Amino acid sequence: EVDADLGRAAGLVREVPDFPEPGVLFRDIGPVLADREAFHSVVDALGRVHAFDVVVGIEARGFLLGAAVAHAHGTGFVGLRKPGKLPVVADRVDYALEYGTAALELPADALIAGQQVLVVDDVLATGGTLAAARQLVDKAGAESVGASLVLELSQLGGRRTVPDWDVRTLFTV
Ligand code: AMP
Repeated sequence: EVDADLGRAAGLVREVPDFPEPGVLFRDIGPVLADREAFHSVVDALGRVHAFDVVVGIEARGFLLGAAVAHAHGTGFVGLRKPGKLPVVADRVDYALEYGTAALELPADALIAGQQVLVVDDVLATGGTLAAARQLVDKAGAESVGASLVLELSQLGGRRTVPDWDVRTLFTV
């Protein structure tokens, strides 16, 4: 039944052409979160990995999924934010996008050295975001044990940006 719910969840990911800009096919997991069984099965599957003692989620949809995984496993949650949102910043990593740059920030007094971190996000595209998250975790002295994401866009080859890392994705297109 869990697998059936997961399969149904895959079908609930909405495809939106030309968002947020022309040429991009946006994968909207909103309908997955809104569906009781789909949400439950996805959160369950994201957390079915080796041991971790804190979840790091990436703004913004990684917050929704990651906090749910953390709660289910009785761990804390740390959110990596886009610039300008955090009142006290511990560290920042800038990274390249196809056009332009982006950055992620780690809040102060969040990660503890030695903690085993599971990174959670919704979509693996080029992998830049995930690589930046891993860098922030590693620089904080924590151990990035792996990453769990809902959807992998395999043609973009994002996995190659985080070699030697246990990156698990529930669905691949
Ligand atoms: P990337 O750094 O290219 O792997 O992009 C991953 C981040 O951007 C994730 O946080 C996603 O939420 C978002 N993202 C990138 N491409 C898409 C897409 N086609 N649909 C939905 N979200 C995307």
